[in-house]
Amino acid sequence: MKRTKIIATIGPASEDKKTLSEMIRKGMNVARLNFSHGNFSSHKRIIKLVRRLGEKLDVPVGIMADLQGPRIRVSNSQEFSVAKKEIIRVVEFLLPEKTSAIKNLIARGVGKIVGKNKTKILKLDLKGVVKFVKAGTDILIEDGLIKIKVLERKKNVLRAEVINGGIIKPRKGVNIPGISARLGAITQYDKKVLDFALSQDVDFVAMSFVRTAEEINYLKGLIKRKSKRKSGLAQVVAKIERKEAVKNFDKILGATDAVMVARGDLGIEMPQSDLPILQKEIVAKCLRSGKPVIVATQMLDSMIRNPRPTRAEVTDVSNAVIDHADALMLSGETASGKYPVEAVKTMSEIIRRTERSPFDDLGHGFLGDQTSSVSAAVAQAAHELLKDSGSKAIVVASVSGFTARMITRHRPEQKIFVMTNNEKTHNQLSLVWGVRSFVLPDCEDLDELIDKSIETIRRKKLLGKKDKVVIVAGRPHVKKEHMSLVKVEEIR
Ligand code: PEP
Repeated sequence: MKRTKIIATIGPASEDKKTLSEMIRKGMNVARLNFSHGNFSSHKRIIKLVRRLGEKLDVPVGIMADLQGPRIRVSNSQEFSVAKKEIIRVVEFLLPEKTSAIKNLIARGVGKIVGKNKTKILKLDLKGVVKFVKAGTDILIEDGLIKIKVLERKKNVLRAEVINGGIIKPRKGVNIPGISARLGAITQYDKKVLDFALSQDVDFVAMSFVRTAEEINYLKGLIKRKSKRKSGLAQVVAKIERKEAVKNFDKILGATDAVMVARGDLGIEMPQSDLPILQKEIVAKCLRSGKPVIVATQMLDSMIRNPRPTRAEVTDVSNAVIDHADALMLSGETASGKYPVEAVKTMSEIIRRTERSPFDDLGHGFLGDQTSSVSAAVAQAAHELLKDSGSKAIVVASVSGFTARMITRHRPEQKIFVMTNNEKTHNQLSLVWGVRSFVLPDCEDLDELIDKSIETIRRKKLLGKKDKVVIVAGRPHVKKEHMSLVKVEEIR
């Protein structure tokens, strides 16, 4: 079993039953729905299908709703080319929310490319964006492939010169470094998406363009207020893609449930040469605090077009495992690429090969001295016992998943089985390195909890007879004796 988890973004290339089922078989652990694209009814169908397939294949698959945040997009309805040194104009043009209404605009021919004064017009789909832009600012389109420099602003129109030309396509992402600090992280559209996502009981909500811990707390407050069931709320994933988020990272980490190194936008908002070191620093901090961390974007990008990745991509995936990420993410590779199943399979193979090597092992003292809670101290003791007792696995009883995360941050070589009474925790552990989880109803006492855990492992043939296991209960879900426990048992 591979230990590092895989998140696959679902889109037109992967939303059918056969592809989804193959992707789960090949190692997908979390399905990400990107609410920059698609509509609610297609997302609803995908969520239902993923849950059904996960159950059928006996693999817990988490569902992540990714809020697009104040993402600026090209709102021209036709593509057009711009050449180096060409002068163009930039204006705001807000598209309606409904895909059908956008199609209607295009059909009616709305979206002329050339304006009255014969210059081409680039339209941006975000309210209030133009007023923040000053002369000298760069506008970057499609991950920075096309670059435009603003020469002057007259009211709501920018005059700009093309620095790197190319074809500007409808709906492509736009970055304007420097102004992101002025735009909040949650839009009105995000609030509608959140209502929908919570009505579908998603496991994770990813927040784009986060700047501060307060924004995370605000989203958590919304989730709490809007969720029907109060136990097992959706977890928040902070997407680190702004300069301000890097600056405020420690506080954001304290507030969030999980982190994503969103390298696409981060590589534009920050100097791209900073990216590899930022990835290492962010992942290390997450590991120390026991919060799951995802490395995302362009991991196997060339597999959008080709059946094999580049050598550099293979090495990037392997290095993210060596950095100790909990999960790696596929975006366009699975959402719109030609080889979604092959991309998951290739990523799984690279992960497995890297995990067989000693290079992903945790160096001594890497975690520092962070036994700040009983669960963390119990986890540390359990990890020592795991190494010294010759046990094949560790079985963790965990209600919220906290004790499980405290164990997994030690990155043990042995298998980690988690027994929880909470369906939500079960799904959310899909993001956590090395964990295989099971739902076990509440037990009367610790003896029953241990017996039922071992019975589950035996029934599923996960270990052999006489194999030793370390049992850990941080805050066990039993009706009597709320005591912490660490002990060694044998599979009978
Ligand atoms: C990114 O920028 O790396 C990212 C994951 O964000 P999105 O795909 O939402 O643009």
